[in-house]
Amino acid sequence: MRYISTRGGIAPIPFDEAVMMGLASDGGLLVPESLPQVEADILADWSRLRFQDLAVEVLKPFVGECIPEQDLIDLINESYASFSHPAVTPLVPLGEQHILELFHGPTAAFKDVALQFLGNLFEYLLARRGGHLNILGATSGDTGSAAIAGVRGKARIQIFILYPQGRISPIQERQMTTVLDANVHCIAIRGTFDDAQRIVKQLFQDLRFKAQYALGAVNSINWARILAQMVYYFYAWGQLCQGNPECRVSFSVPTGNFGDVFAGYLARRMGLPVERLIIATNQNDILTRFVHTGIYAAGEVQHTLSPAMDIQLASNFERYLYFLSGERPEVVQNWLESLTGTGELRIDEDQRAQVARDFQARAVTDAETLEQIRRTYEEEGYILDPHTAVGVRAASALDCGKCVCLATAHPAKFGEAVVRAIGREAPYPPALKNLLDRPTRSILLDADETTVRQFMQRTLAP
Ligand SMILES: *Cc1c(COP(=O)(O)O)cnc(C)c1O
Repeated sequence: MRYISTRGGIAPIPFDEAVMMGLASDGGLLVPESLPQVEADILADWSRLRFQDLAVEVLKPFVGECIPEQDLIDLINESYASFSHPAVTPLVPLGEQHILELFHGPTAAFKDVALQFLGNLFEYLLARRGGHLNILGATSGDTGSAAIAGVRGKARIQIFILYPQGRISPIQERQMTTVLDANVHCIAIRGTFDDAQRIVKQLFQDLRFKAQYALGAVNSINWARILAQMVYYFYAWGQLCQGNPECRVSFSVPTGNFGDVFAGYLARRMGLPVERLIIATNQNDILTRFVHTGIYAAGEVQHTLSPAMDIQLASNFERYLYFLSGERPEVVQNWLESLTGTGELRIDEDQRAQVARDFQARAVTDAETLEQIRRTYEEEGYILDPHTAVGVRAASALDCGKCVCLATAHPAKFGEAVVRAIGREAPYPPALKNLLDRPTRSILLDADETTVRQFMQRTLAP
């Protein structure tokens, strides 16, 4: 399997190069040249596999010749050994619906499913090719801790994560700063999340610095993250349908950067019998508006109770645009030019009809989110985190039927919203216990590009 760019500017590359490249060098996103098709009898076989073995089967054609099968098996087993549930992503019934619990990893958020694998994959590829990687990122919460958990203690990787001092939740800060491995560098910034993000962007734009220090990113544009997230769609279908090809399942997906739901879209294109894919957004509803109107136009970011979805321009959306265009990079280019030039992108009637076949969408307010947490707790005794509640709410509003709602975070991680909804916190999972008692390490720096650059140079000096 080889990979090309949504913007058509690179010659096809193999899997390992696609993983190390992250963002395509022409500014586009990497996508597979073609999608493997999975027949009904194979799906039936897969539905009997445990999560790890299924992951090997799903990933194999995408990895191609790049990684020998036994190495892939080892990488996957190692990645999911850090999950506290034997099923890795268990499916639990909830009234009419089902909840796919994706939060049993080391940081209690679904990003662990991809980042535990990506960390091991980076280490494996670096050991083989030689070289080092210095990961740099800014976080307002979940991504930073999941990225740190993915690469802590890895020999050829250093990670620098910037976050705004005093503006992320104490639990989320502790999840990063209690990781004491020497390769982990948590940087609190005297400023806002936007300041942290601006500094990271400036450092990446300094191409000499980027090359000299082998800077890399772990944001959701890395192809390997999408790939790892496809596995649990197959897994949930297998659990619910036991391999019966007539059995179709719908999924409701709390959506921010469009990585998670895009993985479901690809699983369906590969032949998984998916009935409906629901994009569930909070008040940051650009994707919902797109599905309803065919116009993609960013608004102001609003702060909500589901902060991991407080996103306007979704970084993976370009991948969908590529498929919507009929895999024509020149059409994607035109759309993106229009988006940059006029602030919006419009699709034609045929494409709108296609979007309506691909997705349904629903925007959920904070009040509805709280109400859903309350109702599910009262009716089922199950505590939803606010992100998951957005998905469950969208599923009920759209009569989702035989429906799997993806649970993207453990409710204890978002205690404030949960307390507001039901008057008590969720019990802490192992990943979040004793965080406040553990020693921490971080450095506080001014919100200034040069200060951060100098800190990195000092830290990385041989
Ligand atoms: C990142 C995240 C999401 C959004 O996932 P995308 O792939 O960005 O759409 C939803 N919920 C939680 C808890 C997250 O951390």
